[in-house]
Amino acid sequence: MPAHALEGLRFQCQPGCTNCCDVQGFVYLTETDLEQAAAFTGMTKAAFENRYVYRTKNFLRLRKPRHSQCHFLTEAGCSIHPAKPTQCRLFPFWPELVENRREWSKTAGHCPGIGKGELIQIGAAMEEAEGMRRAYPAMYS
Ligand code: SF4
Ligand code: SF4
Repeated sequence: MPAHALEGLRFQCQPGCTNCCDVQGFVYLTETDLEQAAAFTGMTKAAFENRYVYRTKNFLRLRKPRHSQCHFLTEAGCSIHPAKPTQCRLFPFWPELVENRREWSKTAGHCPGIGKGELIQIGAAMEEAEGMRRAYPAMYS
């Protein structure tokens, strides 16, 4: 059982913040994420993939632009917000954070939403985190 399993977690995304989009790392997509992002941008799936996605045997991830972490990050926030990839939508409810008190606290260093808002029952937080395992099985196997 995770160390903070009995406490629940507080999180409320803060308006105007885009810190998690600036963290060094890759944004992985599911096939459904790819379809939804392509549809949202009015592109075909093939055209969107060709322009924005890097595909390997097990993973799909967004290509990175030269000077930022993500093509879709604008001053106004995520330009594909309604169709953003699963890992963006579920952050910070990722298994490696929800199940590890130290990592959760460390993440609060760049996510000002952690520790704010209503108390979220740990069961609900872990169910959210399961969404990550379902979306990216190769990453969590
Ligand atoms: S897709 Fe949107 S939410 Fe995800 S990292 Fe890029 S700008 Fe941020
Ligand atoms: S860093 Fe946290 S508060 Fe800021 S946009 Fe991301 S999830 Fe929301």
